[in-house]
Amino acid sequence: MPLVFVGHGSPMNAIDDNKFSREWTKMGQELPRPKAILMVSAHWVDEATLVTGDEDPKKINDFYGFPEELYQKRYPVKGDVKLAKKIEELTGAKLDSNWGIDHGTWSVLCRMYPKADVPVIQMSLDENITPREHWELAKKLVGLREEGFLIMGSGNVVHNLGMMQWIDEGFEWAVEFDKNIKQLIIKNDFDKLINYEELENWQKAIPTNEHYLPMLYVLALKNEEEKVDFRCEKVTMGSMSMRSWIISE
Ligand code: ZN
Repeated sequence: MPLVFVGHGSPMNAIDDNKFSREWTKMGQELPRPKAILMVSAHWVDEATLVTGDEDPKKINDFYGFPEELYQKRYPVKGDVKLAKKIEELTGAKLDSNWGIDHGTWSVLCRMYPKADVPVIQMSLDENITPREHWELAKKLVGLREEGFLIMGSGNVVHNLGMMQWIDEGFEWAVEFDKNIKQLIIKNDFDKLINYEELENWQKAIPTNEHYLPMLYVLALKNEEEKVDFRCEKVTMGSMSMRSWIISE
């Protein structure tokens, strides 16, 4: 099964017809149909590594000041308790019944799988571990790929809310940072991605790392010879990279 990272950006992409939402729809149509999806979303940071263990996970509207249509949008997807338990065995993650499917997940999946007919579980980002430890944890999930589960990350390569402006282009430093990340991915130079605090302009691109970490979960499972098919190669709102990709043979 391929691996997918999606730069999710504004929750509005769930209901706006735009170049990003159209591309996500296309990605969903191109990918082989997974048995279920394991999503690592930027929007679930917790005190431990947790996985959603509900048969019917609730939709979480974790954003403020958006149009009512977005809050009313339905995405009645099923969970996968067996998969959650398997991840518990593989990684030591604990089953959770408080969280559900947040907008890092449903705003993207309602485009990729609009029928909500592929079960989804989410895994949290443990706030107490280092990027290297996230990387090592992700590697324990490798067997799930072969079993037909789609492992996805949802975040943004560059994500600085404080600097954001209502423009459809990126600041020069943000575009450069985004391109640099692309090159490091192409070269399989993952140590530099894990040690991102050595990259130029990292403080502006990654003021907090929850939107950056989900991509490490995807890249940690990549075989060296696999190809990366980049999508949505665009920095918008000054400091938000929408870069997404599919990794496959
Ligand atoms: Zn976000």
